[in-house]
Amino acid sequence: MKKITIAIDGFSSCGKSTMAKSLAKEIGYIYIDSGAMYRAVTLYCIENGLIEDGEIRTEILKEDLKRINISFKINAETGQPDTYLNAENVENKIRTMLVSSMVSQVSALDFVRSAMVEQQQKMGKEKGIVMDGRDIGTTVFPDAELKIFVTASAEVRAQRRFDELKSKGQEASYDEILHNVKQRDYLDQNREVSPLRQASDAILLDNSTLTIEEQKAWLINQFNRVVNP
Ligand code: C5P
Repeated sequence: MKKITIAIDGFSSCGKSTMAKSLAKEIGYIYIDSGAMYRAVTLYCIENGLIEDGEIRTEILKEDLKRINISFKINAETGQPDTYLNAENVENKIRTMLVSSMVSQVSALDFVRSAMVEQQQKMGKEKGIVMDGRDIGTTVFPDAELKIFVTASAEVRAQRRFDELKSKGQEASYDEILHNVKQRDYLDQNREVSPLRQASDAILLDNSTLTIEEQKAWLINQFNRVVNP
């Protein structure tokens, strides 16, 4: 069967990665979480003192970016890809509120975006990939055969993120998460480079009231429609 490229974009915390991961597993495709790459760069900035009083030291980051290697390796226990920053597994560290609160600023930098987009395009060269993010259908893979744009209300998304952090035993405040979700929506939609927007040929999915199972079935249908027209 011919392999295609699947781009899943949308607002933060609307379950894109859950959808993308389960679809990739079902159809035997590679799954790449592009947000994890921006989170890893943000973690690097935090750990190396490149963010001071909310300001990013862009000249140093530009230099350091040449030495920042981000990769994914399957975790034998979970069966899911973990994110590595250079040789370190940073899967848990990149999901904290501290990283979430800085990532939209880091991901708005044009030189960070071009470096990440180049790596993402290399990862998808052979097709057979499901990638989720903000600009996958518009910038990274504008020719993707299947593009989905996911949305849900900010309140539903904040609750999902809250439940996720709690289930991992992390401290979380619903109000703080809701504020973060809205702030990232604003920054992601209003940045100059590759702002978050629905590609003209993307299918819109509002999953506010869908269960994970319903969403999965919907997505498999979309996939079958494209590969077996
Ligand atoms: O998907 P996730 O919420 O983990 O992404 C974290 C942040 O990374 C987003 O809020 C956005 O600022 C940035 N991002 C991006 N482009 C992508 C994926 C994520 O700018 N393709």
